[in-house]
Amino acid sequence: TEEIIRKSDKLSVVGELAAGVAHEIRNPLTSLKGFLQLLQSKTNDNKIYFDIMLSELDRINFIVNEFLVLAKPQIINFQKKDLLKILQNITILLNTQAIINNVQIHVDFDPSIPLIECEENLIKQLFINILKNAIEAMANGGEIRVQAMKYQNDRILIRCIDQGCGIPEERQIKLFEPFYTTKEKGTGLGLMVCYKIIEAHNGKITIESKINEGTTVNIILPIKHH
Ligand code: ADP
Ligand code: MG
Repeated sequence: TEEIIRKSDKLSVVGELAAGVAHEIRNPLTSLKGFLQLLQSKTNDNKIYFDIMLSELDRINFIVNEFLVLAKPQIINFQKKDLLKILQNITILLNTQAIINNVQIHVDFDPSIPLIECEENLIKQLFINILKNAIEAMANGGEIRVQAMKYQNDRILIRCIDQGCGIPEERQIKLFEPFYTTKEKGTGLGLMVCYKIIEAHNGKITIESKINEGTTVNIILPIKHH
């Protein structure tokens, strides 16, 4: 346990540092954007380049903002949220990494899904962890499908299906243990955090996997929080 405490101490220091850095990035970004807009207003040339630069700055800004929210200590605050919107934003956040890995993310939602009582930042963290794992499992690219449907009247079922390397059966029981990782730069904390988040929402998370075929993460969330 001492080892675990020491590691999580280190982690929160890293989190704070990262949040500080994200903060520092925002100020120069704002000034860059201001000067670009000023230059753009003074010329009719190179419009397309200005547009690209401004939209790329907006993207950095979006990512830095998301990052700041995630790095901050969380006050748990359950509110009715549109899960589809949350997932679409996460897809934007992860798109660069997905493209580099030749991975496409498809979000396929049953339109009748109601708002879900949840803590938005935790739900974001949950899907970021799961989708990152899926991207990292697909060394040769492929597709990730995120499906959501109603389940037993008062719940929804969300499935994240990847076409990655899969997980051998004997390792599947270890997945939610802290510090279990097969990656050189992994923390082994992603799925443990997912488990805690699902627990806080009175939901369920299970993982099915077949070697060389892919992995499916199943999440059940109650529509109303009790
Ligand atoms: P990390 O990603 O830092 O290794 P996680 O807790 O997120 O930690 O995942 C633990 C381990 O579970 C990973 O190292 C990997 O071996 C396995 N894993 C998780 N998700 C997948 C997936 N979608 N496909 C294949 N293996 C996975
Ligand atoms: Mg992970």
